[in-house]
Amino acid sequence: MNFDLKALLRPHIRELKPYTSARDEYSGKDGIFLDANENPFGSITTENFNRYPDPYQQALKERIATIKNVSPSRIFLGNGSDEPIDLLFRAFCNPAQDNVIILPPTYGMYGVSASINAIETISIPLTEDFQLQKEKVLEAVSEKSKILFICSPNNPSGNSLNPNEIEELIQKFPGIVVIDEAYVDFMSGESFVKKLEEYPNLVILQTFSKAWGLASLRLGMAFASEEIISVLNKIKPPYNISGLTQRTVLDALDNTDKMKRMVADILIQRDKLKKELESLDGVIKVFPSDANFLLVKVPNANKAYQDLIGRKVILRNRSNVLLCENCLRITIGTEEENKILIAELKNWLTENS
Ligand SMILES: *Cc1c(COP(=O)(O)O)cnc(C)c1O
Repeated sequence: MNFDLKALLRPHIRELKPYTSARDEYSGKDGIFLDANENPFGSITTENFNRYPDPYQQALKERIATIKNVSPSRIFLGNGSDEPIDLLFRAFCNPAQDNVIILPPTYGMYGVSASINAIETISIPLTEDFQLQKEKVLEAVSEKSKILFICSPNNPSGNSLNPNEIEELIQKFPGIVVIDEAYVDFMSGESFVKKLEEYPNLVILQTFSKAWGLASLRLGMAFASEEIISVLNKIKPPYNISGLTQRTVLDALDNTDKMKRMVADILIQRDKLKKELESLDGVIKVFPSDANFLLVKVPNANKAYQDLIGRKVILRNRSNVLLCENCLRITIGTEEENKILIAELKNWLTENS
């Protein structure tokens, strides 16, 4: 594939000399470390956090590399997925000049990050059944279009987008194509990570926030060409992943079995909850899901949402979102939580029919 990353980069980023940290200048392990103005005695906490963490998270990346079957040089780690999203804007999009293409209904951060960076978003809606309008996307492309954001499985609809159509867009879009695979561990199809070598314009986002159950630690992954990864490394805050997060996740990655068990449980609960919701009188539609949530259409979602809060069941109201009229997004809970949800929703539907 013919792709010139340098030409796509913003000129000042191309020329940028990055900050060099103490740990960039000397990365050896031996010696007395008097180069980073750290506290030599330790920390106020029982556990010590007095030393700056590895700015490139090498040990953690090596571990992730074996799990994901990619080279560590193709991995970027961010403070959540939000960080690589923002860095991609800063690397490729000139404020008040360029645009990005998003496919609503979709994850809100792409548009917010665009606004923060003064970048126009061009919205090409998905179809009624939440699939790509491939031709419309391609028609919208101009020389100002720098990034195309594709979320699959898609939030808030829950379904995966057709992988052949995604691939055609990767081939034809002249800029960076971001595939957000936050829900990859819950889907039946395959990740695009295995296509990385084929497509130098491809960036895949994954996260430890969902299947791994580590939302509070804030750790997101981006997989891309070595060239794109070096750009992200160049512009990131030097110590963007805390030592606590690096250590905790490195240890947790010995326990992939637990992640798989939790995912398997969530999938069982998803199927069960879907059937139960479909059997409720008044539920209009439960959309197919490849994720850990269900999009559900009810008669009056705004009222349902408010009334259910009164009953201590908190859902996400997506009624105001394009193509999601009267839809609630329901995260798959434990068996116990899902039972309570069903009971309360059933009551509400009876009282509001
Ligand atoms: C939850 C989610 C993420 C993850 O965000 P983090 O910042 O890594 O917690 C990314 N993309 C989508 C579509 C999501 O739904």
